Amino acid sequence: MQLINMTPHEVKVGGLTIQPCGTVARVREIELLMRYIQGPCMLCGDQATDQTPGTCRHQFSVIPVCQLENGEVESIPEALHQDTYYIVSKLVAQVAKHPAVVCVTGFIRDSTGRITGASGLAYYK
Ligand SMILES: [Zn+2]
Repeated sequence: MQLINMTPHEVKVGGLTIQPCGTVARVREIELLMRYIQGPCMLCGDQATDQTPGTCRHQFSVIPVCQLENGEVESIPEALHQDTYYIVSKLVAQVAKHPAVVCVTGFIRDSTGRITGASGLAYYK
């Protein structure tokens, strides 16, 4: 059994400490610009809305609103090795939906609430 850590940080699970393998698995993000909304004036803070135009003569800020979509998982090998688990972020595991592509689960915390490890691994169906 082999565990390959494809996150950017050390993983502690079930008494094992697994160093990052050097390749980080990621989900490609597709960003579509949908519309703009008008923010407050950058100089005086005057507010404009869709119904009420701002009353000052300064420059109003414009805030883009995008639609995000999860794309392909990047960096996980096409042919997964047998008896190998690939440890990735929760988001990558959610998109990959493969029993060998796992994230950590069951966080263990110290007395100050800091996460010190995880009790197990999990995949998404
Ligand atoms: Zn203004």
